[in-house]
Amino acid sequence: MNPWFAKAVVLAASIVMVAIRAPHGERSRRIKVVKSRRGALEIVLLTLAGLGFLVPLVWAAKPVMAFADYALRPIPFVVGVSLIALGLWLFHRSHADLGANWSITLEVRDKHQLVTRGVYRHLRHPMYLALILYSSGQALVLPNWVAGLSYLVVFVLLVALRLGPERMMRDEFGQEYDAYVAGTKRLVPGVW
Ligand code: SAH
Repeated sequence: MNPWFAKAVVLAASIVMVAIRAPHGERSRRIKVVKSRRGALEIVLLTLAGLGFLVPLVWAAKPVMAFADYALRPIPFVVGVSLIALGLWLFHRSHADLGANWSITLEVRDKHQLVTRGVYRHLRHPMYLALILYSSGQALVLPNWVAGLSYLVVFVLLVALRLGPERMMRDEFGQEYDAYVAGTKRLVPGVW
């Protein structure tokens, strides 16, 4: 297959992702942060996540990673596009359900409420799942070993290191959070 199919998907998916997040980022900046756990590790992780998001766009624009290119095949392409679409849908739903309680990093905001409705009724980290689906899809769609894997690698790292934030939510919401944990899974519906 022509790699331009992959370039078109990577570009369109990145635009949709930014468009979903933009209004939430804008609103979140205006809400006071009451407690923050944005330490050095968080800053490193967020920087890596930003780079991991940009590398595929660099690949689409310039042949600087041509040494790691391989041939694009229809089956991984179609599976990848489906995972990206599912990931973007779940990303949108998670943002819609979290509303003003969302932060890009580990923070408690003014009037923070524990969200247990919508996609948060079943899973505690649907947004992380959304981003893992999206980045796995991108790894399949994008026929380059470096650019295809960049977002997935940093995202798996970010999620693995962040699953501790449950501590922050536990400290903030106490028994309410314990009850929520008892009735939900972390990342994989019905499994874990
Ligand atoms: N881990 C979640 C959210 C990621 S965004 C997910 O994958 O869907 C991280 C921010 O969201 C944190 O600052 C935290 O305060 C907030 N947050 C996470 N889960 C929440 C919930 N159930 N209710 C309210 N805020 C939540």
